[in-house]
Amino acid sequence: MAFDPAAATAAYIASIPPDVQARSIAYTEGGYWLLPLGLIVTGVVTWIIVRWGILAKLRDRAQKSKPRPSSAAFQVAATYIGLSALITLPWTIYTDWWRPHHYGLSKQPLGDWLGQGMIGLVLNVLIGGLFFMGLYWLIRRLPRLWWLAGAGMAGAGILLMLLIAPVFIEPLFNKYEPFPKGPARDAIVALAKDAGVPEDRIFVFNGSRQRDVVTANVSGAFGSARIAVSDIAVDRASLPEVRAVVGHEIGHYKLGHSLRSVLFFSAMALLAFWATHRLFQPALRWFGAQDQVQGLADPAGLPVLLFVVSVFGFLATPLLNSYIRIGEVEADQYSLDHARDPDGLSTALLKAVEYRKASPGRLEEIIFHDHPGVENRVRMAMEWKARHQK
Ligand SMILES: [Zn+2]
Repeated sequence: MAFDPAAATAAYIASIPPDVQARSIAYTEGGYWLLPLGLIVTGVVTWIIVRWGILAKLRDRAQKSKPRPSSAAFQVAATYIGLSALITLPWTIYTDWWRPHHYGLSKQPLGDWLGQGMIGLVLNVLIGGLFFMGLYWLIRRLPRLWWLAGAGMAGAGILLMLLIAPVFIEPLFNKYEPFPKGPARDAIVALAKDAGVPEDRIFVFNGSRQRDVVTANVSGAFGSARIAVSDIAVDRASLPEVRAVVGHEIGHYKLGHSLRSVLFFSAMALLAFWATHRLFQPALRWFGAQDQVQGLADPAGLPVLLFVVSVFGFLATPLLNSYIRIGEVEADQYSLDHARDPDGLSTALLKAVEYRKASPGRLEEIIFHDHPGVENRVRMAMEWKARHQK
């Protein structure tokens, strides 16, 4: 009897226990609401900080002795990033700590989560402060074309972060160790060779600290690449699953997705900054801040500038998700062609159902999902299997 990919897909999906299905649907669909609610939270925080007038006071104080606009911009931006993180802390605890706990996706104690959040906040304050210092410099120098130069600066910033993150940032949050010897390592080495990643750059990291999910990633570029597999995957995934998952991640690396993303996100920044250029003045009036903020070049207007960017990001969600989803399909295809294990990929994908609804509708997938539904991905694997079985 010939292999029937539709029946094989249906059998895989039917193997998901009903309680896992129900929980995953609740977690995923509840997540949809976080998007508009998050935008409202941003709007309220913007309103509070603007009405409070603290950034305008800080700007005046920083300018008082002698006008040093860049130092004032850094101080105002760093203060705003820190303050808004504190004000939104209850919301962030709910979305990023409570929800994953409630749905059994994380066991991280609140204290550890907060400690890591503090490290993240310090990085955001420093890196964000420097970025906005640069952006306000561009706004002062190129009042009409800053959005174009700003997009270039954002692209360069993303590229720099991509290069330094594996070395300077990721070790602050997780421990990376050489992958233990054994059949799983041998299988990964064979896949890595294809992609030109040297053997000594294959690591295991304690991903279980944050998330109870099977995951791996490849980061770095220009010969500094490294493959990192979560300890959860090492403990809980079968050999074919590890091969298929690592094959997927190597696909992202080999197909140049990071550099493509730098270009994509630079283009998005261009549109967002251009929209801000056009809408900043009306937005300033909505928030009633036209008296204390002296135009776009005034860093005291940063909350309003970022609110306009957030609205743009909210509206662009389907575009952003669709861009990422296309890369995911390509990485699955790479895994199938190189790890050649459609069943390993399928069972690994079924584990992702814990945090991602298996069968979203077409429109639902386009709008909300940055990965294709598991059912669609398993079907692709089964169709690959059917083609390669003769
Ligand atoms: Zn992926």
